[in-house]
Amino acid sequence: MIYLDYAATAPVPRAVADAMYEVLAGQFGNPSSQYPVGLELKKQVELWRRTVADALGCDAKRLYFTSCGTEGDNWAVTAACWQNRHLGKHIVTTAVEHSAVVEACRWMERQGYEVAYLKPDQGGNITAHQVLEAVRPDTALVSVMMVNNELGNVYPIAGIAQGLAAKNPQTLLHTDAVQGFLEVPFAAGRLGADFVTVSAHKIGGPKGCGALYIGPRVRNPRPLLAGGGQESGLRAGTEATAQIAGFAKAVELRQAGLPEKLTHMAELRAYAVERLSAIPDLTLIGDGQAPHILAVSLPGWPSQNIVNDLGSQGICISAGSACHQGKPSHVVAALKLPKRTASGVIRLSLGPETTREEIDDCAEALRRHHDQRMPML
Ligand code: PLP
Repeated sequence: MIYLDYAATAPVPRAVADAMYEVLAGQFGNPSSQYPVGLELKKQVELWRRTVADALGCDAKRLYFTSCGTEGDNWAVTAACWQNRHLGKHIVTTAVEHSAVVEACRWMERQGYEVAYLKPDQGGNITAHQVLEAVRPDTALVSVMMVNNELGNVYPIAGIAQGLAAKNPQTLLHTDAVQGFLEVPFAAGRLGADFVTVSAHKIGGPKGCGALYIGPRVRNPRPLLAGGGQESGLRAGTEATAQIAGFAKAVELRQAGLPEKLTHMAELRAYAVERLSAIPDLTLIGDGQAPHILAVSLPGWPSQNIVNDLGSQGICISAGSACHQGKPSHVVAALKLPKRTASGVIRLSLGPETTREEIDDCAEALRRHHDQRMPML
């Protein structure tokens, strides 16, 4: 199998699975228990938290484990609106956020909020200026993702944070960094964002585990889950110890030789651009700068057919985000591309293990698809 869909999820290294098994089978206690097995596990959870927090560039006390990136996004949106309920009912976000943010904002709309979904240009870009212009005195929250999961565009979070501090210091800033964590350099503690969401399974950790950084400007954050007081009383529920251990192990593995890994991925992405550009009609989509995501289109050749054809040859790519399940992507729609171009958009996403040969095989399969199938649109 040739796996080029790391932005959907990454393969789990053996060492991550082993670390999880060790906790599941060997350290099965409850971290809240007051005897040694529990107390020891509680200490372990704090060490794992420190590992993830160090990689994220923040104080471990400000990092809360969640059940996934979606949970972190939902929590950030609702907690920011809760803190700033006195300020107003206005949210600024983009039309190209992951559905975890879009749908949380839609839910806030049903609670009477007005939401500005900023449109990108045709390259998928969103500027800090554009975001700041949309901010009003009653803006409770600005939520802009760090790296777009379908296009690979990197958005100017630090610039937005600086501008926001000058224009409307009470407005809280959230960034969904699920595709940015250990892919592009940043430190959550210095970024200027009040909430930063990450997810374990994009970097080789288990699915069903994530974390949310909550910065010091968020006073008495609204608990997500009330109950037994875990996660400093903000997200109750017995800690998912094996998932958290797997997350920390994945972070550790990913961090070893990280600069070389990122350079390798960026070089392979550039190589993929070169190889794919030789296919007649192929168009690059978005001005993606992230090292691991590349969107292209074969205008006239429906993306689902391409995905199915390559899939039948053991090559895994995606037609935009895996979360859309066959529905047209709102991200591609926001680019306002010609219909034939929009319907042919596919995404290749790479990981540290990806090889040149895999890119070559994928490029050849795409060329065959182009040459042997008639365009349908
Ligand atoms: N945000 C972005 C940008 C993503 O790419 C994803 C996953 O595809 C998520 C959020 C959701 O993360 P999770 O699958 O952990 O809920």
